[in-house]
Amino acid sequence: MLEHDARKPAVEAHQAHLRLLQTTDMHVNLLPYDYYVDAPTPRFGLARTASLVRRHRAAARNSLLFDNGDFLQGTPLSDMIAEQHARGEAGLHPAIAAMNALGYDAGTLGNHEFNYGVDFLEHALRGAAFPVVSANITDRRHGDDRHLVAPWVILERDLSLAGGARAPIRIGVIGFAPPQIEVWDAIALRGQVATGDILAAARDQVPQLRAAGADIVIALSHSGIGDETAQDRMENASVPLAGIDGIDVILAGHMHKCFPGPDFDATDLVDPALGTLHGKPAVMAGFHGSHLGVIDLVVEPDGSGWRIARHASSLEAICEPETMRPAGRRARVLSDAGVIAAVGDAHDQTLDHVRREVGRTTGPLQSYFARVANDGTVQLVADAQRLAAQTLIDGTAWADLPLLSAAAPFKAGGQGGPENYVDIPAGPLAIRHAADLYLFPNLLALIEVNGAQLADWLERSASAFHRVVPQRARQALIDMAFPAYCFDVIDGVTYDFDLSAPARFTIGGRVAAPAATRVRNLCHEGRPVAPDDRFVVVTNSYRIGGGCNFPIARDTARIMTTTVPVRDTLIDHFRENPALIPYRRDTWGICPVPGASAEFRTGPGALHHVNGVRDRRLTVLGEDDEGWTRMVLDLDP
Ligand code: MN
Ligand code: MG
Repeated sequence: MLEHDARKPAVEAHQAHLRLLQTTDMHVNLLPYDYYVDAPTPRFGLARTASLVRRHRAAARNSLLFDNGDFLQGTPLSDMIAEQHARGEAGLHPAIAAMNALGYDAGTLGNHEFNYGVDFLEHALRGAAFPVVSANITDRRHGDDRHLVAPWVILERDLSLAGGARAPIRIGVIGFAPPQIEVWDAIALRGQVATGDILAAARDQVPQLRAAGADIVIALSHSGIGDETAQDRMENASVPLAGIDGIDVILAGHMHKCFPGPDFDATDLVDPALGTLHGKPAVMAGFHGSHLGVIDLVVEPDGSGWRIARHASSLEAICEPETMRPAGRRARVLSDAGVIAAVGDAHDQTLDHVRREVGRTTGPLQSYFARVANDGTVQLVADAQRLAAQTLIDGTAWADLPLLSAAAPFKAGGQGGPENYVDIPAGPLAIRHAADLYLFPNLLALIEVNGAQLADWLERSASAFHRVVPQRARQALIDMAFPAYCFDVIDGVTYDFDLSAPARFTIGGRVAAPAATRVRNLCHEGRPVAPDDRFVVVTNSYRIGGGCNFPIARDTARIMTTTVPVRDTLIDHFRENPALIPYRRDTWGICPVPGASAEFRTGPGALHHVNGVRDRRLTVLGEDDEGWTRMVLDLDP
């Protein structure tokens, strides 16, 4: 742990120490409670982060607290509030109440703020006691393309100088969010909101913010630390954003990673040890309140205003960082009473809601092998979607086409760590299990595709894997930079992945090798799929909107959108099958590669289910120092 007080730079009488504190990607994790497993957790929750906030405030003469967005969506609590809003019953949003209690100085919007539509967002923001800024989001409802919220704000603060005197400072705060919002949430937004390029908005607005008198400018960038070179409509634009004149500090987010720290590689422009982008101080405070971002500035008079003389960036974790293991993870701070009080009854209401029993499963449901083999949880989502879709297309022109169902595993390791898997024992199924199986408030959506588009869809999924060469043991199998939620499995056809071939698509979805094919043996009912065969695929609003850059989303002529949350189709499925029998079809496989084996890592809970994975010869290697269990798949024919 970094001791901020020990590192506090000496300041001269005319200088001031100004501490900037950041939370990001809270996703309505307000209390340290995991609603999916219905148990307390030391790993996240704003109530814990809040205690760090109070500690850091007490140790600094001057401090400001910011949130970087994705604060209104992400737990069963947030869905419950959204349902209350839809019924006209919503009061002050508990996330906003908690943030008010903690006294944020400003915040910005993340992409998930738009998941429940603009009315919901505006209702929530009306309760905020702090300004929320975003410079690249346009409100299109009134015909004059105004900003949805203020692009920036100037916070007028009285600095306490090292020598004891006080002096005014004007702190400019400007916000940015991924321009993909208008695509990702196209269905919920109905064209009411447009999202522009982050860098273009910065070039337009930062000079105005400076001209309005800001002494220093802080960018709240709900955007990751990605490519260094500017591209049009970048999702993760924080590096080139830091290069824009007039911006002094970058608070980044969206990626659910930690900066400074080993999540990022050092480059000419990114210093993950010092925590700088373009030499400017930056932080990204993990997610769900896992960390508090801290930037210590020493500011000094600069003729008419102030300039930054020195800076230091760091993160502080809410729990002991050395152990990702459930048993070993201990909280470092207690929950803050103010946040607990602000959440009020919403926590208890959420518990009542998520514990409501809606069915039973006769066997365990787990996702430990979802990225290497057919999986029962993905199958369950695919089945629930297909059954709901069938009733929607009965009697339409689509009723005669084969109906396929595309689903991806959401909890399958990744950033969430070795505990981030579905692991539901045989027994009762409650609402929380549906939420666990389907984390996002995506809506059911259908699309008609031909055989060629179907194959291309699967080629995109195939970029989840590294290339495997013959005659080499223990090659890395899963490209961990490829998010699990982008790994669409299409139920209703069968296919294999030939991983000895290069991937057609990059992780981000750009075509890297147009002629490359990994998909083999694509068949429907045992017959090869021809390029002009026609299918209807049921999927979700995020995918249809362009999430994960699947090529099908670019051809939007044949789409049916709905207002049915996919999660509700799961709950219906539970109710209609009171003794659910988990199973998985042989939908996809990995082609043999002579003399090759491939290594992957999964959660330690997988050890209870190894016997259930019969597809390939599987060897357990053991646990690594981050708590993952390493396994090897023998790919030799
Ligand atoms: Mn997020
Ligand atoms: Mg985000």
